[in-house]
Amino acid sequence: MPLDACDLSQLISLCRAQIERHCEHLGRLDSAIGDGDHGANMKRGLEAVYRERADIASLPLPAALERIGLVLVMTIGGAAGPLYGTLLMELGRGLADEGGRADFAASLARAIAAVARRGRSGPGDKTLLDVLYPVQAEIARHAAPDRIAACARTAAQATEMMLARRGRASYLGARSVGHEDPGASSCALLAMTICQYFQE
Ligand code: ADP
Ligand code: MG
Ligand code: MG
Repeated sequence: MPLDACDLSQLISLCRAQIERHCEHLGRLDSAIGDGDHGANMKRGLEAVYRERADIASLPLPAALERIGLVLVMTIGGAAGPLYGTLLMELGRGLADEGGRADFAASLARAIAAVARRGRSGPGDKTLLDVLYPVQAEIARHAAPDRIAACARTAAQATEMMLARRGRASYLGARSVGHEDPGASSCALLAMTICQYFQE
């Protein structure tokens, strides 16, 4: 399915349902190495996007993604809000710049770089970036959606053994090892939902 032919309203509904379903799980992951609010934060963000889905879906894809990013910044809060917000806003801007002929993978790479700058973080720091980098690499090599979804889950799981170097989890030092990162987990859940949509 070409990207701009996707039913964005339907995709938003699916993402919102997925986060709702895993809200408590994300909260538990964040309780182990943070302050326990990641599930509630993400749920609040996706609810807000869901309420605006009709307006958002009426926009051209780049503007729609930028709008989603803005809503996420305003509603998720915490550390994750500005990071997810930056990702979507920069992705939308990157697609707009290329005037519709955009290379999605290239725009995503630039958006991920913007998230890394914003969080002053990089690969192996035990954050959502540890899912974003490998997912982008799979998209860039035109992997099938089910392959990208599997990569997202594996990447989130791999954060369990990492030592957190950014965000609240970094305050725990070595005690952060042995727990999956909540942001990596929510990121994988969203990536898997989007992949499943494009697989069908
Ligand atoms: P808070 O830590 O403010 O309560 P959340 O619980 O909603 O915010 O989000 C925590 C997640 O945000 C972490 O699991 C991690 O993936 C991500 N995160 C936190 N700080 C950074 C950072 N500096 N760079 C990248 N990701 C980060
Ligand atoms: Mg938290
Ligand atoms: Mg918090």
